[in-house]
Order: sequence, then structure tokens, then C-alpha cells
Amino acid sequence: MLPLPSDEAVDASAFTSLGVSRPLVTAVVQEGYSEPTPIQTAVIPALLEGRDVLACAQTGTGKTAAFVLPLLDRLMQSRGNGRIRALVLTPTRELAAQIAERATAYGRHLPLRNAVIYGGVGQQKQEDALRRQPDLLVATPGRLLDLIGQGIVRLDAVEHYVLDEADRMLDMGFVHDVRRITALLPKQRQTLLFSATMPSEVEQLTRTILVDPVRVAVKPPATTAELIDQSVVFVERADKRAVLEKVLCAPEVSRAMVFTRTKHGANRLREQLEKAGIGAGVIHGNKSQGARERALEAFRAGSTRVLVATDIAARGIDVDGVSHVINYDLPEVAEAYVHRIGRTARAGASGRAISLVEGEDRAYLRQIERLIRMEIPTLFGDRPAEQRTDTRPASPRGGRPQHFAPRRRH
Ligand code: AMP
Repeated sequence: MLPLPSDEAVDASAFTSLGVSRPLVTAVVQEGYSEPTPIQTAVIPALLEGRDVLACAQTGTGKTAAFVLPLLDRLMQSRGNGRIRALVLTPTRELAAQIAERATAYGRHLPLRNAVIYGGVGQQKQEDALRRQPDLLVATPGRLLDLIGQGIVRLDAVEHYVLDEADRMLDMGFVHDVRRITALLPKQRQTLLFSATMPSEVEQLTRTILVDPVRVAVKPPATTAELIDQSVVFVERADKRAVLEKVLCAPEVSRAMVFTRTKHGANRLREQLEKAGIGAGVIHGNKSQGARERALEAFRAGSTRVLVATDIAARGIDVDGVSHVINYDLPEVAEAYVHRIGRTARAGASGRAISLVEGEDRAYLRQIERLIRMEIPTLFGDRPAEQRTDTRPASPRGGRPQHFAPRRRH
């Protein structure tokens, strides 16, 4: 149990000046948050006022607390009626579990209940949680529709609606599910939409579900990336594994996420690391929910120092103290690089990202360097002369902010 902070510490907290109520400020001070992050400063007052909000922000910016704190506050202001009054939709089970876990932590001094539902696991436990009359429900779209279809969930008392990672939800093909769920909600409600990017499909969705929203954008990930000490190593394919093992054996590597492009590659790499005496876990989309949770838990607890992951499985995963992100394979989509390296240097801590670049991947590196507008220094060895990247912005003023730029398709 975390110790209770003093009254003075709660009074002096900048969260109090944002209008957050005492029990919630007490909880965030207990969590060790001394200052709200920029997204929290922008979003919390607008949500407390009851406005709709459209926010452009990545995971790692503190966005969960930005919506969970005001949501819990608003739930305390209206009377509980034993029905679901707030719904958070999010694309993956990991994100759903994390949001619910945060809601429990922030709401620990409030008499509110939350429940979380997602697919890929048995339904019974989730049904039991729903029977306990949660005020807040966190859900992935597929399982939510299932349970609505079975008459187990009703959404006609929802007053607050959050669509988290809307761009990703649409990418994963949930657009019809999201529309069906939205149609079941009362028209009179508060709605918040979070998205890391604003492709036109998301813009369209916002027009139909938000009313006169306050628009908030925090610094693009390319700027967040400045906190991270990035480097590249140009390697031959045959040497990649030896270079990775060398990097992982350095004493400063206390907790590392290693990214591969394919599930098969992730499995193989984990086995090879194990053979080399480096204990590693693995998460990817073909692993069962239980196996993923166990691998994550071991990584969180520090019993495995290395987690091998693919992009889909890793996005949104929140583990503090990741000292290194290693791109064993570069991602084919430049934005994924920014998501990956964002697993380190969370909430202002420093971190390192090291990318192994083999011949075939040099074109991907060029795209990444254009996106983040810097040439990444080499960790050791030279940069091949032909691998120079022009990182100047396309227009003299730097063009549109990165996070409103349309998503590149490959
Ligand atoms: P999120 O973007 O919601 O995934 O949050 C990223 C991480 O930042 C989580 O580990 C949070 O616990 C942490 N966090 C959120 N708000 C703050 C804050 N104001 N100060 C310090 N850490 C925070």
C-alpha cells in the first residue's frame, strides 16, 4: 500500500489547480506524479467542464490519466444508478487491461467500480464483473458487441464516452463496430476521441460523434523522440545476431525490448538468445492471451530482462524502466519506429534506442530519418557514404505538424 501524502502536498499539487478533486489528487501524488503532463494540462479542465474533446496524442504522453481523472470526477458528481455511466473503447486487450488498471489505481479513494472486457479469453469472469454494476466499463469493440448481443451489457445510461487510439481502431477494421456501438449510446453525452494521427477516416468519424469539440494536440512523437538517445549500427545480415548479443550483454542494458518484423522471426530470435544464455520472453499476435500476459508480467517484474516483440503486440504496452529499445529489424513503416522507441524514455525518463540496419533495410532508415528530421548517429562503425539522408523539412516553415500529416500507406 502506498503511503498517504500530506494535506499540504495535495493542496500544492498542480493537479489541484487543474480542478481535479481531492481523492484523485491524493491518488496521483501517491503514484509519484509531481506535475501534470502537457496533454493532462490541456485535456483535464475541458473534460471537467463537460466539453467534448478531440486530442491528438501518443501513448507515453500521459493520455490515460488525462481522461481517466476527469471521468472519475464527473462520475462522482452525478448519482450512481447501478448502470454503466462511462464507456472507454480501445483497440487491444493489453490497452484495455492497462486502462482499467489505471482507473483502479487513480480511483482507489473513490467508491466507484470499473470492469474490463476483451476477447480471446473466457467470458465468465467478465460477466461476473459486469454483474457487480460497474460505473465505468473499458472494452474492446468485438467482445463488447458480443455481450450486448447476449443482453449482458446495456449502454443506454452512458454519459461519458471515450474512443481511445481511434486511428488504430480503424486500422484494425473496427470502424463498423465502433459505429454500431456509438449508435447505441444516448445522444446526450460527453465524448472524447484520442488518436495518434488524424487520417481522413478519423476526421470523418469525429464529425459524426463529437459536438463542438475542444481540439488539443501535444508535441508530435518526433519531438518526444528527442529525449531518446538513438543510434544505428550498419551490419551484414549474417552478423546481426552477434551484434545483438554484444549489445544486450552491456551492463547498462537493464531492461530491453527487441523488435522483429515477423512473429516467426520473434520466436526464432528468442530461441537463439536463450541458447546464447540470454533469458528472453516473447510477445506477438499468435500467442495466447495468457502467454502474452505471463511474458509481460515476467518482463515487468524483472525476471526476464529482454522481451522480443512485434509491432502489433507491443503498441501501447506500458512498462516503466525500459532502458533500451533495440530494432533487430527496422519497421517498414516509419511511424512504427517512433512508436517502438517510445517504449523507452516514458514520462520524461531517458532511454536508448539502437537499430541494426542491414543492406535491405537502408531505404527504411532513410524514411525514418526524414520523419524524425535527423540523421541518427552510428553506435560503432561508419555510416556508408551512400546512406546520407536529406532531413530538411519539405517547406521552409517545416510543413504541417507531423501528427496531423496523413498516414503513409505501404
Ligand atoms: P500513458 O501515455 O497514459 O500510457 O502514460 C505513460 C506513463 O506515464 C504511465 O506509466 C503513467 O503512469 C505515467 N504518467 C502519467 N501521468 C504522469 C505524470 N503526470 N507524471 C509522471 N508520470 C505520469
